[in-house]
Amino acid sequence: MTTNLLDLSPSALADWLAARGEKPFRARQVLRWLHQRFVGDFEAMTDLSKASRAALAAEAKVVGPTVIGDTTAADGTRKWLLAAGSGNAVETVYIPEDDRGTLCVSSQAGCALDCAFCSTGKQGFARNLTTGEIIGQLWHANRTLLADLADAPSPTPWVEAGRAPITNVVLMGMGEPLANFDHVVGALRLMLDDNAYGLSRRRVTLSTSGIVPAIDRLREACPVALAVSLHAPNDALRDRLVPINRKHPLAELMAACRRYLPAAPRDFITFEYVMLDGVNDQDTHATELVQLVRDVPCKLNLIPFNPFPGSEFRTSPRARIVAFQQRLNDAGLVATVRKTRGDDIAAACGQLAGQVQDRIKRRLATRIVPVRTASPVASS
Ligand code: SAH
Ligand code: SF4
Repeated sequence: MTTNLLDLSPSALADWLAARGEKPFRARQVLRWLHQRFVGDFEAMTDLSKASRAALAAEAKVVGPTVIGDTTAADGTRKWLLAAGSGNAVETVYIPEDDRGTLCVSSQAGCALDCAFCSTGKQGFARNLTTGEIIGQLWHANRTLLADLADAPSPTPWVEAGRAPITNVVLMGMGEPLANFDHVVGALRLMLDDNAYGLSRRRVTLSTSGIVPAIDRLREACPVALAVSLHAPNDALRDRLVPINRKHPLAELMAACRRYLPAAPRDFITFEYVMLDGVNDQDTHATELVQLVRDVPCKLNLIPFNPFPGSEFRTSPRARIVAFQQRLNDAGLVATVRKTRGDDIAAACGQLAGQVQDRIKRRLATRIVPVRTASPVASS
C-alpha cells in the first residue's frame, strides 16, 4: 500500500524515510517540498537523488483533499467543502483580515459531543479525520490562495511569495479536536515545524469543549493557544448545553486550565461563551461567570449565537450582549464580542454542517428551557 505523505507528522516522515535508508536531512527536504512548495510530483523534487525519487514514487503518494464545494461570502470569507469518504464531508473556512489570514480547520466528520446549540453536533459523528485530512486543509488553502494571488497555473511557493496566505489557524471547525488527539497533534506539529508551515504556537489555537484529561495531554505533547468552550457559568446549565460537562464538571475544567497555563504560549486562556437569548445571558449569569473564572487568567469571547436550520435557540439581542460584556468588563475581565463572518454562506461559528451520512451516534434530544418566560425559545 502506498503511503500518503501528508499523513505523516515530521517525526513520522523522518522514521518512514529512515526505514528506507534515507539520511535525516531528506525528511527536511521532503517536508519543504510538500508543505512550502506544495509539490506532489516526486520527479520535481530536484534536490533529491534520482534513486530517492524513484523509491518515493514506488511507495508513496501525495494526495490533498477532494474539493466538492467552494463558496465565497460577501465579506471575503471562503468556505471549502471537502470529501471525507462514504458520503461524508467537512468544511474549512478562510477568514481574511487586514493583517492576517485565518483558517478555521475541522478535526472530525461530525461530532459525538452533542452540544445543544451546534449544527455539527446535530449531525452526529461519522469519524475522525486523519493527520493528512487535517493538515490537508491548510495545504489546500495555502496552495489555492497562492495560485489565486499569482494568477498562475502553478502555485508560487510561499517562501518566495514572502509569506503564506494563512498566518493563523484555529481548530474551531467541525469536531472536537481533543477527541481525535493523535491525528490532531500530528497536524499541529506540521503547522509548527519550520520546514513545514512554521507557525508560532501563539498563532495556532485549539478550541475544546473541555475534555479534561486530553487538555493535560496536550500540555505535555504540544501546547498551543487554548480556547475553552464554556457557555455556562454553573454545572446545572452547562450539563444541558455542553453534555461533556456531566463527565468533566466546571471545577475540574478550571483546574485543568490553571495547569495548562504555565506551558501555554499565551499567558491567558480564551473562554468562549455563546450568547443564547434567555438561556445563559442574564446579569446573574455574568455575576456567576466572574466568580467562576476568578482564578484563571483569561479573556472572554462572547459569540452571538449563529442560527442554523432546525436550531431551537435565538441569539441574545445586541443590547443584552453589550450589557453582559459591560458587567464582565466592570469586574475587571477582558471580554470581547466575536465578529460574525461569512454568515451569508453558513460559514460562521457553529454553522458548519458538512455532510455526515454514516453517523454512528445520533444527537440526544435535549430541550433547554429559557430562564425568562418573556423570551421563549422557538420550538423547532
Ligand atoms: N469542538 C470544539 C471546537 C469546534 S466548535 C469546541 O466545542 O470548542 C467552535 C466554537 O463554536 C465553540 O466555542 C462552539 O461552542 C461554538 N459554536 C458551536 N455552535 C455555535 C453556534 N450555533 N453559534 C455560535 N457558536 C457556536
Ligand atoms: Fe462538538 Fe464543539 Fe459542536 Fe460541541 S460545539 S458538538 S464539541 S463541535
